[in-house]
Amino acid sequence: MIIDFSAAPSPSYVVDERLLVKNLKILKQLQDRTGCKVLLAQKAFSMYAFYPLIGHYLSGVASSSLYEARLGREEMDKEVHIYSPAYDEKDFVDILKISDHIVFNSFSQWARFKDQVKAAPRRIQCGMRVNPEYSEVETSLYDPCAPFSRMGVTKANFDPDALDGLDGLHFHTLCEQNSDALEHTLEAVERKFGKYLKTMKWINFGGGHHITRAGYDIDRLARCILAIKEKYDVEVYLEPGEAVALNTGYLVSTVLDVFENGMKIAILNTSATCHMPDVLEMPYRPEIIDAGKPGEQAHTYRLGGPTCLAGDVIGDYSFDHPLQVGDRLVFCDMAIYSMVKNNTFNGIALPAIAAYNDEDGIRVIKQFGYENFKTRLS
Ligand SMILES: *Cc1c(COP(=O)(O)O)cnc(C)c1O
Repeated sequence: MIIDFSAAPSPSYVVDERLLVKNLKILKQLQDRTGCKVLLAQKAFSMYAFYPLIGHYLSGVASSSLYEARLGREEMDKEVHIYSPAYDEKDFVDILKISDHIVFNSFSQWARFKDQVKAAPRRIQCGMRVNPEYSEVETSLYDPCAPFSRMGVTKANFDPDALDGLDGLHFHTLCEQNSDALEHTLEAVERKFGKYLKTMKWINFGGGHHITRAGYDIDRLARCILAIKEKYDVEVYLEPGEAVALNTGYLVSTVLDVFENGMKIAILNTSATCHMPDVLEMPYRPEIIDAGKPGEQAHTYRLGGPTCLAGDVIGDYSFDHPLQVGDRLVFCDMAIYSMVKNNTFNGIALPAIAAYNDEDGIRVIKQFGYENFKTRLS
């Protein structure tokens, strides 16, 4: 069935459960076929109304902070993994209570927290994030292998005498990439850290695997996983964020005004900077249902948000009809890195969060109001 977006609040994020399940099945199949474990990286998608469903297919969550770890424990309650560039002493007691795997970013952090981990009442597996100094990421904002990177330990700084108590290695050097980039990365990881991997129980390949994108080579990924498992006798973890909810969500918006300034401009009730910040940060151009590139269709508009930021521009799009106040525009691929990054800059309201399935239609899960703006300030 086609979603009737006129039934959704505006603005709202609407996540299509059918598409989410489609992605989850692909990831589950990878687990079944290779024996690897796939975790949801909550950084990309933390719509916890779906955590019971996601937990049905995946093995748990990857977290970047105490709060993400806690959300994963509370709402999914499968394996909880955490990695942070540095842990704060005051969070660590709680992290110990809820985490199954704790990944450290440096040997100084490992030395600082090691005794607390050992003394914890529950058995926690610890890992070290390594930096293989090899990545094919071209945007420096997303390149953890750039010079002077703060992400992970390089071979030169790796301390083979401090491995007692460490159960695994972790790397994360991919971003929206295919499995050939993983294959090349693994060569670097093996060359630099293979010797130490032999003494470990697991390796975590991080995220950035675009597994559910059309054209992704899953067979090659499976070969990589099986080869490492066999050669080093380790478990393999993957923690994709994007791939879990890629192309599963929409942002529904409404045209508030249309005017001219050298070209046609439309102001929407949704903002790039508040509701889809990666459009400016990444940056990228989201697709809009039934719209084309500028000039492709008869009527081209520059679409912008209702904030006072001059650069709050989503992009230029063309339509087969002139836009009118009240028209609905629906942005695609808005499940990932959207809700988790939005904000109330300028006092702009947060979009509602909704889900769609064929039985219930559009189900509004949460709406936000003035309190959500006010309670974050004082
Ligand atoms: C961002 C991140 C992920 C998820 O990355 P995606 O690109 O969303 O798949 C996984 N692990 C770590 C350590 C990360 O920083």
